[in-house]
Amino acid sequence: MSSLEPGGRVALVTGGSRGIGRAIAVRLAQDHEAVLFTYRVDAEAARTVVQEVEASNGRAEAFCCDLAQSDNAIELVRYALHTFGRLDTVVNNAGIAHRRSLLEMELADWHDTMNTNLTASFLIMQSAARAMVAAGRGGSIVNIGSPAGSQGGVTGAHYAASKGGLIGMSATAAKELAPYGIRVNIVEPVFVETDMVRTLLEDDPTLVLKSPMGRRGTPGEVADVVAFLSSPAASYVSGARVSVSGGGG
Ligand code: NDP
Repeated sequence: MSSLEPGGRVALVTGGSRGIGRAIAVRLAQDHEAVLFTYRVDAEAARTVVQEVEASNGRAEAFCCDLAQSDNAIELVRYALHTFGRLDTVVNNAGIAHRRSLLEMELADWHDTMNTNLTASFLIMQSAARAMVAAGRGGSIVNIGSPAGSQGGVTGAHYAASKGGLIGMSATAAKELAPYGIRVNIVEPVFVETDMVRTLLEDDPTLVLKSPMGRRGTPGEVADVVAFLSSPAASYVSGARVSVSGGGG
């Protein structure tokens, strides 16, 4: 494992062992950030990500936690700071999309989705921002949203509400944190080839989950945008919602 270079940057990515989060973790490591990413169950998948990063002389570490539990979200940031000594980039990517109609939704469905998609993002963003403000080096926070948050969508009111919550939360945080040099942006993927989309299609093969480009996006195409937003090249970009949708957002 290569050690953190003096002044080296540190990124935290939630849900980094598969899907879009995996691509983001690997991509940020290529940009010379040491990466701490979370996973819940699949330790083997997490190990593979660490190995892939280390094979390119990067540094990555996996942290096992269920972010639906509030304490874990706070502990995660504490662990990142304790292990790496600093935090420059945060990507709130972990999310669930368990499809439910309004008429059949249980309160537990609502809470699960809000806890994972919104409350964890809030707690991580707040804890990370406090550390970034104290360090005085600025930072970048990217929250992974969805156009469902502003337009509604096929997955249900709970999912749309959680992603809609991210929009207001991120826009407010962008304004409050701008004086500290901390930028907050949202990336909204659509039709990206991951387990989430595959499961939605298995449950309902009549769904059309293809962009106007006639294909689905790749996790790497989302990761490239997150990497840009996290880089100094985006130094004046904050409060933005960036659609990565092949024209379908
Ligand atoms: P996947 O279902 O492939 O991956 C979801 C990720 O979230 C996994 O890494 C998973 O971790 C993690 N996760 C889910 N619940 C929890 C939890 N309670 N605690 C910790 N981690 C959790 O989805 P995608 O990669 O497609 O989605 C990534 C993000 O992109 C989500 O926020 C999603 O809403 C958003 N998005 C995706 C779209 C797409 O087209 N794919 C479209 C619009 C938005 P684990 O492996 O441990 O289960």
